[in-house]
Amino acid sequence: MDVSPKLVIGNWKMNGLREQTVQLATAVAEGACSLPDDVKLVICPPFTQLERVSDILETVGTDSKLQLGAQDCHTASSGAHTGEISADMLADVGVKYVLLGHSERRQNCGETDALIRRKVQAAEAAGLVPVVCIGETMAERQDGRAATVLASQIDGSLTDSFNGVLAYEPIWAIGSGVTPSRDELERTLFLLRGLLQSRLKMDDIRVPILYGGSVTPAQAPTIFSIGVLGGVLVGSASLDAKSFLRIAEAA
Ligand code: PGA
Repeated sequence: MDVSPKLVIGNWKMNGLREQTVQLATAVAEGACSLPDDVKLVICPPFTQLERVSDILETVGTDSKLQLGAQDCHTASSGAHTGEISADMLADVGVKYVLLGHSERRQNCGETDALIRRKVQAAEAAGLVPVVCIGETMAERQDGRAATVLASQIDGSLTDSFNGVLAYEPIWAIGSGVTPSRDELERTLFLLRGLLQSRLKMDDIRVPILYGGSVTPAQAPTIFSIGVLGGVLVGSASLDAKSFLRIAEAA
């Protein structure tokens, strides 16, 4: 089974002042145009840079080849929520994808599966593609509890009619330089496919499953050799246009 097209998402996290953003987004947009049809890119700048990056993508004319993503959204569409950004506001500036439930938000902002599910609903209502992140800690992995943790994250954070993207990001692999072995990752992806089938009550799962955690140009060919993989979610390597594009070329 070979999932195509492959999705390569860059999560810029809390990085990007004006000048750096213009350079990075322009370089990625120009490089994206020459990538083959079976790979699609998404970049997720911080909120303050979304409109600027949206303009750059429009000027370069990347169309569906490179689309704009955001890193979070609120559950409500508007109202008295100081400091928050709604999915409708994201859609309004040209955002198509939104990361939800990243482990840094689960751990640092206390986001629960129930909250993430409400964010997924908000994203779906605004016409955005939700990219729901799940993943186990090192302690859970060592205790043999990874499968249970992933199952409960899938049960709790997805909607019944979920039609977005799932990103498997083992917490121990994020920013650590360590990745699961090819075999371990392939086993986990099949496990996740089965969990999605039972959660969504569907035999034919269309939800792409991405891998994230220390993805680099050097690791990318091994990771992409797993046919069932739907793509990758890239953190630090997405802050360098050449590295990000090399990862996409390996897809
Ligand atoms: P990393 O981050 O590629 O820097 O490990 C991945 C992520 O947090 O999405």
